[in-house]
Amino acid sequence: MTQQEIKGIIRNVPDFPQKGIQFKDLTTAFVRPDCLNWFQTELTKAYQDKGITKVLGIESRGFIIAPTVAMALGAGFVPVRKKGKLPAEVVQQSYLKEYGTDTIEIHKDALSPDDVVMIHDDLLATGGTIEAAINLVRKFGVKKIYASFLVELDALEGRKAIGEGVEVYSLIHY
Ligand code: AMP
Repeated sequence: MTQQEIKGIIRNVPDFPQKGIQFKDLTTAFVRPDCLNWFQTELTKAYQDKGITKVLGIESRGFIIAPTVAMALGAGFVPVRKKGKLPAEVVQQSYLKEYGTDTIEIHKDALSPDDVVMIHDDLLATGGTIEAAINLVRKFGVKKIYASFLVELDALEGRKAIGEGVEVYSLIHY
């Protein structure tokens, strides 16, 4: 499987969820065992020597591949959820969206200062979501943070929203 082959399988949906957005629908890749396997093995290869102890998946499309990589790396999985979904004590981070603000949360006991964290989401667009997730993880004082994606939309320059000291890696670029 190559980057080019996967690109031919990911479905582009114009004007979803609103006019002007070219939505990259990854469900057409997730439904295929060869693509699922490619996502998992390529990400695992990229992070196997980094000493990752926790893989964080961002709700909800980050939940699909993150746990499979966590298992392969021998790391734990931590969900980053939208406000009000986690039942125990949480740490929060709010961030600006196009309309109003949003809040994401992690359980307070899910991370500790000796963790090496790989944050995962399906796609990097403007970078607002990952920036908030990084700021949230920083509150735990962890050793190191990595940011990983299946797809990156280069023209939106989401990497610029990601501060110094966080290494970014995406499997597929548009
Ligand atoms: P952003 O915060 O702008 O980087 O947006 C990233 C989040 O929005 C990810 O969780 C994606 O699932 C979703 N997203 C944004 N733009 C797209 C797009 N063009 N196609 C698919 N998902 C998108």
